[in-house]
Amino acid sequence: MRTSILAANWKMQKTVSEAVRFLEAFLPLVADADAVEVVIAPPFTALGRCGEELEGSNVKLASQNVNNEEKGAFTGEIAPAMLRDVGCSYAIVGHSERRALYGETDAFIAKKAGALLAAGLLPIVCVGELLDERESNRTFDVIGRQLAGSLAEVPVERASEVVIAYEPVWAIGTGKTATPEIAQEVHAFIREKLGEAFGSAGKDMRIQYGGSVKPENVYDLMAKPDIDGALVGGASLDPDSFAKIVQFEKQGVAQ
Ligand code: PEP
Repeated sequence: MRTSILAANWKMQKTVSEAVRFLEAFLPLVADADAVEVVIAPPFTALGRCGEELEGSNVKLASQNVNNEEKGAFTGEIAPAMLRDVGCSYAIVGHSERRALYGETDAFIAKKAGALLAAGLLPIVCVGELLDERESNRTFDVIGRQLAGSLAEVPVERASEVVIAYEPVWAIGTGKTATPEIAQEVHAFIREKLGEAFGSAGKDMRIQYGGSVKPENVYDLMAKPDIDGALVGGASLDPDSFAKIVQFEKQGVAQ
Protein backbone atom coordinates (compact mmCIF):
# COMPACT_ATOMS: atom_id res chain seq x y z
CA MET A 1 0.00 0.00 0.00
CA ARG A 2 1.55 3.29 -1.10
CA THR A 3 0.85 6.35 1.09
CA SER A 4 -0.07 9.35 -1.05
CA ILE A 5 2.42 12.20 -0.89
CA LEU A 6 1.31 15.79 -1.49
CA ALA A 7 4.19 18.22 -1.82
CA ALA A 8 4.27 22.02 -2.15
CA ASN A 9 7.00 23.51 -4.33
CA TRP A 10 7.10 27.23 -3.56
CA LYS A 11 9.93 27.88 -6.01
CA MET A 12 11.49 31.37 -5.55
CA GLN A 13 8.58 32.66 -3.52
CA LYS A 14 7.95 33.67 0.13
CA THR A 15 10.19 35.47 2.58
CA VAL A 16 10.74 33.89 6.00
CA SER A 17 7.87 35.84 7.57
CA GLU A 18 5.55 34.96 4.67
CA ALA A 19 6.48 31.30 5.05
CA VAL A 20 5.76 31.40 8.79
CA ARG A 21 2.40 33.09 8.18
CA PHE A 22 1.52 30.36 5.69
CA LEU A 23 2.37 27.62 8.20
CA GLU A 24 0.39 29.29 10.99
CA ALA A 25 -2.68 29.15 8.78
CA PHE A 26 -1.96 25.81 7.11
CA LEU A 27 -0.93 23.48 9.93
CA PRO A 28 -4.26 23.61 11.82
CA LEU A 29 -6.12 22.94 8.56
CA VAL A 30 -4.26 19.68 7.95
CA ALA A 31 -3.70 18.56 11.54
CA ASP A 32 -5.97 15.53 11.02
CA ALA A 33 -4.54 14.54 7.62
CA ASP A 34 -2.89 11.36 8.86
CA ALA A 35 -3.63 9.08 5.90
CA VAL A 36 -1.35 11.04 3.57
CA GLU A 37 2.15 12.46 3.72
CA VAL A 38 2.41 16.25 3.43
CA VAL A 39 5.62 18.02 2.41
CA ILE A 40 6.53 21.70 2.01
CA ALA A 41 9.52 22.88 -0.05
CA PRO A 42 10.24 26.54 0.76
CA PRO A 43 13.21 28.46 -0.67
CA PHE A 44 16.57 27.79 1.04
CA THR A 45 16.39 30.98 3.13
CA ALA A 46 13.18 29.86 4.86
CA LEU A 47 14.17 26.22 5.47
CA GLY A 48 15.64 26.69 8.95
CA ARG A 49 12.71 28.65 10.32
CA CYS A 50 10.15 26.37 8.66
CA GLY A 51 12.01 23.38 10.12
CA GLU A 52 11.45 24.84 13.59
CA GLU A 53 7.79 25.57 12.89
CA LEU A 54 7.18 22.04 11.58
CA GLU A 55 8.78 20.23 14.52
CA GLY A 56 6.22 17.94 16.11
CA SER A 57 3.74 18.47 13.25
CA ASN A 58 2.56 15.99 10.61
CA VAL A 59 4.14 18.04 7.80
CA LYS A 60 7.64 17.33 6.48
CA LEU A 61 10.23 19.69 5.08
CA ALA A 62 11.92 19.49 1.66
CA SER A 63 14.44 21.57 -0.22
CA GLN A 64 13.98 22.43 -3.88
CA ASN A 65 17.54 21.48 -4.84
CA VAL A 66 20.81 20.18 -3.42
CA ASN A 67 24.41 19.64 -4.46
CA ASN A 68 25.86 16.16 -4.59
CA GLU A 69 29.13 17.09 -2.87
CA GLU A 70 29.56 16.71 0.89
CA LYS A 71 31.47 19.98 1.45
CA GLY A 72 34.16 22.16 -0.03
CA ALA A 73 34.79 24.93 -2.54
CA PHE A 74 31.39 25.00 -4.26
CA THR A 75 30.32 28.62 -3.93
CA GLY A 76 26.58 29.08 -3.64
CA GLU A 77 25.81 25.38 -3.21
CA ILE A 78 24.13 23.48 -0.36
CA ALA A 79 25.12 19.96 0.74
CA PRO A 80 22.74 17.15 1.78
CA ALA A 81 23.95 17.17 5.42
CA MET A 82 23.17 20.92 5.63
CA LEU A 83 19.58 20.16 4.63
CA ARG A 84 19.28 17.47 7.26
CA ASP A 85 20.68 19.89 9.81
CA VAL A 86 17.74 22.29 9.26
CA GLY A 87 15.13 19.53 9.41
CA CYS A 88 14.65 18.42 5.81
CA SER A 89 13.43 14.92 5.10
CA TYR A 90 13.19 15.31 1.31
CA ALA A 91 14.83 17.20 -1.54
CA ILE A 92 13.41 17.80 -5.02
CA VAL A 93 15.93 17.07 -7.78
CA GLY A 94 15.70 17.43 -11.54
CA HIS A 95 12.80 19.86 -11.62
CA SER A 96 12.18 20.88 -15.23
CA GLU A 97 13.06 24.49 -14.40
CA ARG A 98 16.49 23.37 -13.23
CA ARG A 99 16.91 21.17 -16.28
CA ALA A 100 15.85 23.94 -18.69
CA LEU A 101 17.22 27.09 -17.03
CA TYR A 102 20.37 25.76 -15.35
CA GLY A 103 21.36 22.97 -17.72
CA GLU A 104 21.04 20.11 -15.24
CA THR A 105 21.64 16.73 -16.84
CA ASP A 106 20.34 13.30 -15.92
CA ALA A 107 23.88 12.35 -14.80
CA PHE A 108 24.06 15.32 -12.40
CA ILE A 109 20.56 14.59 -11.08
CA ALA A 110 21.58 10.95 -10.53
CA LYS A 111 24.55 12.06 -8.42
CA LYS A 112 22.29 14.28 -6.33
CA ALA A 113 19.79 11.46 -5.75
CA GLY A 114 22.59 9.11 -4.70
CA ALA A 115 24.12 11.71 -2.37
CA LEU A 116 20.75 12.39 -0.74
CA LEU A 117 20.15 8.71 0.01
CA ALA A 118 23.67 8.36 1.37
CA ALA A 119 23.00 11.29 3.72
CA GLY A 120 19.66 9.93 4.93
CA LEU A 121 17.41 12.19 2.86
CA LEU A 122 14.76 11.14 0.38
CA PRO A 123 14.88 12.35 -3.23
CA ILE A 124 11.83 13.49 -5.20
CA VAL A 125 13.10 12.97 -8.75
CA CYS A 126 11.25 14.94 -11.44
CA VAL A 127 10.80 13.82 -15.03
CA GLY A 128 8.60 15.18 -17.80
CA GLU A 129 8.37 15.82 -21.52
CA LEU A 130 8.23 19.13 -23.38
CA LEU A 131 5.23 20.02 -25.55
CA ASP A 132 7.05 19.37 -28.82
CA GLU A 133 8.28 16.02 -27.49
CA ARG A 134 4.67 15.03 -26.73
CA GLU A 135 3.43 16.30 -30.08
CA SER A 136 6.07 14.31 -31.93
CA ASN A 137 5.22 11.12 -30.02
CA ARG A 138 8.47 11.04 -28.08
CA THR A 139 6.98 11.16 -24.57
CA PHE A 140 7.82 7.58 -23.62
CA ASP A 141 11.36 7.79 -25.08
CA VAL A 142 12.05 10.97 -23.15
CA ILE A 143 10.62 9.72 -19.86
CA GLY A 144 12.37 6.36 -20.22
CA ARG A 145 15.71 8.09 -20.82
CA GLN A 146 15.24 10.55 -17.94
CA LEU A 147 14.33 7.73 -15.55
CA ALA A 148 17.24 5.50 -16.52
CA GLY A 149 19.70 8.42 -16.30
CA SER A 150 18.39 10.13 -13.17
CA LEU A 151 18.00 6.92 -11.14
CA ALA A 152 21.35 5.43 -12.18
CA GLU A 153 22.85 5.91 -8.70
CA VAL A 154 19.91 4.58 -6.69
CA PRO A 155 20.80 1.19 -5.16
CA VAL A 156 18.03 -1.42 -5.55
CA GLU A 157 17.71 -1.80 -1.79
CA ARG A 158 16.96 1.93 -1.40
CA ALA A 159 14.65 2.30 -4.41
CA SER A 160 11.39 2.19 -2.47
CA GLU A 161 12.45 5.35 -0.61
CA VAL A 162 12.65 7.38 -3.82
CA VAL A 163 9.66 9.39 -5.04
CA ILE A 164 9.19 10.14 -8.74
CA ALA A 165 7.33 13.26 -9.86
CA TYR A 166 5.93 13.07 -13.39
CA GLU A 167 5.54 16.67 -14.50
CA PRO A 168 4.71 17.22 -18.17
CA VAL A 169 6.50 20.50 -18.81
CA TRP A 170 3.62 21.84 -20.92
CA ALA A 171 1.36 21.58 -17.87
CA ILE A 172 3.62 23.36 -15.34
CA GLY A 173 2.39 26.81 -14.42
CA THR A 174 0.29 26.98 -17.58
CA GLY A 175 -3.11 26.15 -16.14
CA LYS A 176 -3.20 23.17 -18.56
CA THR A 177 -3.43 19.96 -16.55
CA ALA A 178 -2.86 16.60 -18.19
CA THR A 179 -6.18 14.77 -18.14
CA PRO A 180 -6.25 12.01 -15.53
CA GLU A 181 -6.16 9.52 -18.46
CA ILE A 182 -3.05 11.08 -20.02
CA ALA A 183 -1.33 11.23 -16.62
CA GLN A 184 -2.27 7.63 -15.77
CA GLU A 185 -0.93 6.39 -19.11
CA VAL A 186 2.50 7.87 -18.37
CA HIS A 187 2.41 6.83 -14.70
CA ALA A 188 1.72 3.23 -15.77
CA PHE A 189 4.68 3.43 -18.16
CA ILE A 190 6.88 4.81 -15.34
CA ARG A 191 5.72 2.00 -13.03
CA GLU A 192 6.68 -0.56 -15.67
CA LYS A 193 10.15 1.01 -16.07
CA LEU A 194 10.65 1.11 -12.28
CA GLY A 195 9.76 -2.59 -12.16
CA GLU A 196 12.33 -3.35 -14.87
CA ALA A 197 15.01 -1.36 -13.02
CA PHE A 198 14.27 -2.31 -9.42
CA GLY A 199 12.13 -5.45 -9.48
CA SER A 200 9.46 -5.70 -6.81
CA ALA A 201 10.74 -2.51 -5.08
CA GLY A 202 9.51 -0.62 -8.14
CA LYS A 203 5.93 -1.40 -7.13
CA ASP A 204 6.41 0.39 -3.80
CA MET A 205 7.83 3.56 -5.32
CA ARG A 206 5.47 6.50 -5.26
CA ILE A 207 4.81 8.48 -8.42
CA GLN A 208 3.44 11.99 -8.01
CA TYR A 209 1.76 13.96 -10.77
CA GLY A 210 2.66 17.65 -11.17
CA GLY A 211 1.34 20.31 -13.52
CA SER A 212 -1.38 22.82 -12.60
CA VAL A 213 -2.85 20.63 -9.85
CA LYS A 214 -5.56 22.50 -7.95
CA PRO A 215 -8.43 21.71 -5.57
CA GLU A 216 -10.78 21.37 -8.57
CA ASN A 217 -8.81 18.65 -10.39
CA VAL A 218 -6.89 16.82 -7.66
CA TYR A 219 -9.58 14.25 -6.83
CA ASP A 220 -9.89 12.89 -10.36
CA LEU A 221 -6.12 12.68 -10.77
CA MET A 222 -5.65 10.93 -7.44
CA ALA A 223 -8.36 8.41 -8.30
CA LYS A 224 -6.07 6.84 -10.93
CA PRO A 225 -4.31 3.67 -9.80
CA ASP A 226 -0.71 4.73 -10.49
CA ILE A 227 -0.98 8.33 -9.26
CA ASP A 228 0.31 8.40 -5.69
CA GLY A 229 0.31 12.09 -4.94
CA ALA A 230 0.96 15.52 -6.37
CA LEU A 231 3.78 18.03 -6.62
CA VAL A 232 2.10 21.40 -6.58
CA GLY A 233 3.48 24.82 -7.54
CA GLY A 234 1.08 27.76 -7.87
CA ALA A 235 -1.83 26.28 -5.91
CA SER A 236 0.43 25.48 -2.95
CA LEU A 237 1.19 29.13 -2.20
CA ASP A 238 -2.15 29.69 -0.51
CA PRO A 239 -2.81 27.74 2.72
CA ASP A 240 -6.52 27.12 2.02
CA SER A 241 -5.87 25.95 -1.51
CA PHE A 242 -3.04 23.56 -0.55
CA ALA A 243 -5.05 22.26 2.42
CA LYS A 244 -7.88 21.38 0.02
CA ILE A 245 -5.41 19.54 -2.20
CA VAL A 246 -4.10 17.60 0.81
CA GLN A 247 -7.72 16.71 1.63
CA PHE A 248 -8.38 15.56 -1.92
CA GLU A 249 -10.77 12.85 -0.74
CA LYS A 250 -13.17 15.59 0.36
CA GLN A 251 -13.10 17.37 -3.00
CA GLY A 252 -15.32 14.76 -4.66
CA VAL A 253 -15.68 13.85 -8.33
CA ALA A 254 -15.29 16.33 -11.22
CA GLN A 255 -16.24 19.80 -10.06
C1 PEP B 1 5.85 22.54 -10.34
O1 PEP B 1 6.56 23.48 -10.64
O2 PEP B 1 6.36 21.55 -9.79
C2 PEP B 1 4.42 22.62 -10.63
C3 PEP B 1 3.76 21.52 -10.76
O3 PEP B 1 3.88 23.89 -10.79
P1 PEP B 1 2.32 24.24 -11.04
O4 PEP B 1 1.51 23.44 -10.04
O5 PEP B 1 2.23 25.72 -10.80
O6 PEP B 1 2.01 23.85 -12.44
